[in-house]
Amino acid sequence: MLKISRQDYDILRQHGEKTYPHECCGVLLGRFEDDGTRVVTSTARCGNTRTDSAHNRYNIDPRELVRLQREGRERGEDIVGFYHSHPDHPAQWSSTDLAEAHWIGCCYVITSVEKGTATVTNSFELVGSGEDDKRLVDESVDVA
Ligand SMILES: [Zn+2]
Repeated sequence: MLKISRQDYDILRQHGEKTYPHECCGVLLGRFEDDGTRVVTSTARCGNTRTDSAHNRYNIDPRELVRLQREGRERGEDIVGFYHSHPDHPAQWSSTDLAEAHWIGCCYVITSVEKGTATVTNSFELVGSGEDDKRLVDESVDVA
């Protein structure tokens, strides 16, 4: 399960509206609870480094990711997930999303943005023991 505040939830959805018709992407920071629940305590917007097809691909600059991870740790936060938008496509992961997901135990949040308006937001947990058997599974999102 993913627990996220209404404020952070709105931030990631509005980010997708702002970058429409291109994808947005960003990082979710927070903590892992003992039962596996991820609690988001802050959200970081990232620039989309893909310029070839920004409407259906996203990529976070690795240097930006390292910086966010370091800054998060200084505040006692870990990277617990990632988010991006699907302009005019359903909030379901694609084979590319799975191929580019590498953080086992983290969540991948996808928001569908239809004609510029954020509609459905879904979260998927990346499970498995490694690259060979990793998969994305539906999880519930608790917005409080
Ligand atoms: Zn995607």
